[in-house]
Amino acid sequence: MIELSASGKMVIASGNPGKLREIARLLTPFGLEVVAQSELGVSPAEEPHPTFVENALAKARHASAATGLPALADDSGICVPALGGAPGVHSARYAGAAATDELNNERLLKAMTSVTDRRAHYYCVIVLLRQHDDPQPVIAEGEWHGEILRAPRGTGGFGYDPLFLDRGSGLTGAELAPSRKNRISHRGKAMRKLLRAMTLSQG
Ligand code: IMP
Repeated sequence: MIELSASGKMVIASGNPGKLREIARLLTPFGLEVVAQSELGVSPAEEPHPTFVENALAKARHASAATGLPALADDSGICVPALGGAPGVHSARYAGAAATDELNNERLLKAMTSVTDRRAHYYCVIVLLRQHDDPQPVIAEGEWHGEILRAPRGTGGFGYDPLFLDRGSGLTGAELAPSRKNRISHRGKAMRKLLRAMTLSQG
């Protein structure tokens, strides 16, 4: 059991349903009541920064300031070394302002048509602020390495999961059961590190 606020509530600074599902699944066993910022009428924050950690801090600060609650933000993306790290921090909007998961996946496949080095990794940084001006944010990160297929496979997950092959299991992110994805994913790793750090900081 981890205690963060008198109400036991924490706001999640994301509007991405795929992320929200995974985060809720990872946190529920710890007795934390999580509420999405959209449920509290909080608009999405700007994410203008070139690094994941800066964007995560901006999102968490925005949600905590707007609600008066502790806030947790995840900033994540997929990085392809052969594309110089793209889509990277621009993963959500890789195909432009009106991007959807399908359009982002199409753009990635197109960018990699003649690329033989298909290695890629997901990166996730999670930031927890106990209040909006918390001078000691808890920060944890995780990576998940794999490769980009030439055609999508599977219907689960979200984002780039149908194109992302986990070498260990031979399955894509969209073929893995949610609990299995959380055990090996960038987000699962970051969240477990964050929870360990929070437990330690509570003595
Ligand atoms: P953010 O909301 O700015 O952090 O954008 C994250 C974007 O990275 C998502 O919209 C997805 O495109 C991609 N992404 C991050 N994590 C995952 C994942 O676990 N599966 C698939 N795509 C992901």
